[in-house]
Amino acid sequence: MNIILLGPPGAGKGTQAKNLELSKGLVHLSTGDMLRTAAKNKTPCGLEAKKLMDRGELVSDFVVMEIVSERLDEKDARGGFILDGVPRNVVQAHMLDDALAEKGLAIDCVVEIVADDEALVERIGGRFACASCGKGYHKEFKTPKVEGVCDKCGGTEFSVRADDTPDTVRNRLGVYHKKTEPLVHYYEKQGILKKVDGMADINTVASQIESAIEGCDK
Ligand code: ADP
Ligand code: AMP
Repeated sequence: MNIILLGPPGAGKGTQAKNLELSKGLVHLSTGDMLRTAAKNKTPCGLEAKKLMDRGELVSDFVVMEIVSERLDEKDARGGFILDGVPRNVVQAHMLDDALAEKGLAIDCVVEIVADDEALVERIGGRFACASCGKGYHKEFKTPKVEGVCDKCGGTEFSVRADDTPDTVRNRLGVYHKKTEPLVHYYEKQGILKKVDGMADINTVASQIESAIEGCDK
């Protein structure tokens, strides 16, 4: 099954994609993670992308869709995938449909995680990740079992994203409403959109998503 998780920054797309990876055996493809890796590796594309990411602006559609298209050709993606962070606008949605059609693939289900802006600013303010394995946490809602030690790899260093500052988050929310939210209508028209309440706790959102996906499967 091929799924898109749609929703504003901080809605819980990454958190829920990791759940689905485990429960459904799907591959989590996050364009934000791919771009951050490219920036860390200082590739020309990555360095160019970093300037935009640090301001909360979108990276070029062509750069992003090239990376996504190549990643979809890898063998593991053929068993089903979850797209997190893409498409980000209607142009990318069309490019994605074309790229998938060329590969003989299609999106089966789009799950919109609905959440309100003020809560998101607060939520993103508490986000951190293990510096070794990248496992995501929240200082209030998802803390490591042992304080200061990563549950997954035992790492003791943690990091926060450079673009998780209050000003950048507000800009990213503005960009979401202007450019990404129209995708709700785009996928509603295709009859594959489901909505879940992203303001519920993490486990409740996970169950809502599982039910939504079952609904798409019928
Ligand atoms: P996104 O990938 O949509 O930007 P994340 O999955 O990184 O969002 O979640 C943002 C932050 O909020 C993380 O620190 C995560 O642990 C926390 N979080 C995710 N879902 C919830 C939820 N339903 N309730 C409270 N906190 C959440
Ligand atoms: P995310 O990890 O999804 O919050 O994305 C972080 C940043 O990466 C965004 O604010 C954008 O600058 C960039 N980005 C991620 N995905 C895309 C995309 N599909 N199109 C354009 N820019 C993107």
